[in-house]
Amino acid sequence: MKKFIFVTGGVVSSLGKGIASASIGALLEAQGYRISLLKLDPYLNVDPGTMSPFQHGEVYVTEDGAETDLDLGHYERFTNARMTFRNNVTSGQIYNSVITKEREGAYLGKTVQVVPHITNEIKERINAVSENADIVITEIGGTVGDIESLPFLESVRQMHVQLTENDTLHIHLTLIPYIGAAGELKTKPTQHSVGRLREIGIQPKILLCRTEKQLNDEIKEKIALFCNVRKEAVIEAIDADQVYEIPLLFSRQNLDGIILEYLGLKRKKGNDLKKWKKIVGTLRQTDRELVIGVVGKYVKLQDSYKSIYEALVHGGIANKTRIIYKKIDSEMIEEKGVESMMEGVSGVIMPGGFGIRGIEGMISAVKYVREKRIPFLGICLGMQCSAIEIARHVCGMQDASSIEFHPQSTSPVICLMPEQNAVKTMGGTMRLGAYPCTLKKNTHSFGAYRKNRIDERHRHRYEFNNDYREVFKKNGVVFAGTCCNKNLVEIIELDARKHPFFVATQFHPEFKSKPFSPHPLFSAFIKASIAKR
Ligand code: GLN
Repeated sequence: MKKFIFVTGGVVSSLGKGIASASIGALLEAQGYRISLLKLDPYLNVDPGTMSPFQHGEVYVTEDGAETDLDLGHYERFTNARMTFRNNVTSGQIYNSVITKEREGAYLGKTVQVVPHITNEIKERINAVSENADIVITEIGGTVGDIESLPFLESVRQMHVQLTENDTLHIHLTLIPYIGAAGELKTKPTQHSVGRLREIGIQPKILLCRTEKQLNDEIKEKIALFCNVRKEAVIEAIDADQVYEIPLLFSRQNLDGIILEYLGLKRKKGNDLKKWKKIVGTLRQTDRELVIGVVGKYVKLQDSYKSIYEALVHGGIANKTRIIYKKIDSEMIEEKGVESMMEGVSGVIMPGGFGIRGIEGMISAVKYVREKRIPFLGICLGMQCSAIEIARHVCGMQDASSIEFHPQSTSPVICLMPEQNAVKTMGGTMRLGAYPCTLKKNTHSFGAYRKNRIDERHRHRYEFNNDYREVFKKNGVVFAGTCCNKNLVEIIELDARKHPFFVATQFHPEFKSKPFSPHPLFSAFIKASIAKR
């Protein structure tokens, strides 16, 4: 029998529903259950791929090439569940599919309505990810009270009535604000938020309470009484130093035990959270710190490079080092000059992005790290900017650029492949998902991965222009990785005699890094940066 957990959020957004859902997944896996996770997003975009990183944060790419919400990144980092196209469902997808079916005549004779047509479609999508799983955790995007998420809430309410009592469980993540002037934690917003859920027929059984101060017994009793939940099901979700502590914080309050009890499932005697304790211990115990510069155009929003920051933490774990990020806005480099902005960094990472804004700053940053021999990891746009920099300042092609920025460039070292030239629509048409790559021996990349063939995820339209391979080679560039079947450049490096660590990849290694298995390129980059410091 399949079990379904639904996670909603109340009071304000950004409480960390994704991390909470991922942590629940981790705890249930530790109990030996197979889990699957699903994110329901209330917006009308078919996927977040067409949104600006400033609107939405990072777009997380799955192995099968879906452009998804960044919470799927947390799911993959915290659990063994593999995310696919099916694990992120938006209102846009639901309406798209219902309207397409209507035109095909699938509902012939009927009036097509939100209930039951939209809600049935939502329920089908939830069931679709339950194959191979004992428990499906569904996170509902948005905040209770939003107009947009009502069809999702109605669907999960129906599932609760249609399935047996202990096959579904509603968990609500809420905020207990601390009012400094009164010196008090306040429960009223939570009471209202749960009241709102009850109005639409949902009674959460467990409350995860985000708070900056500990919740005492009295407060827990009050929340329990007013929100109609058991006191031991009022779980404190106190601000944590780092996200990997959260499964442990939850488990200490027996969240796993309470969930299993509600679902009528057995609890194992031992609790296999050893691997979590180990990484948290490493992060806490180390007194080694390393400053890494993150040079990009979206640094103002923490969420824009979520997986990059996490992969750096993982690279730090592999080297028993705590990473301090220095966020460097590439547009500011153009204004303030590169020297002052890069002060104090032991290594530089340059993530992906789109459009011409901030590009010249990124190119100056590459020139700086190349000349000062500072360890460098360029990713996607970061790789394309390093190719442009090398073309301009090492190979002597002053006008070198990407045709994304300068379509008239006489040295288009980054160009469009013929198949992309024909593309007319924007959504889901980039080179997306996992592709194989063959590594060259005696390179930094080979040294890191220690194998010939790797698979990494992609999300880009433009590629290195093969017409320039020879010139680059003559100037000390090593093509360390190429796509096995397409002859596309995947990794460029500088000759190890010229630079201690200069690696730039067309793919996004950050999406596959996990705290328990740090990505080899991130580990190698951090190691090289420690040596530089
Ligand atoms: N804008 C570049 C391209 O489309 C890089 C994309 C990225 O960094 N993800 O090829």
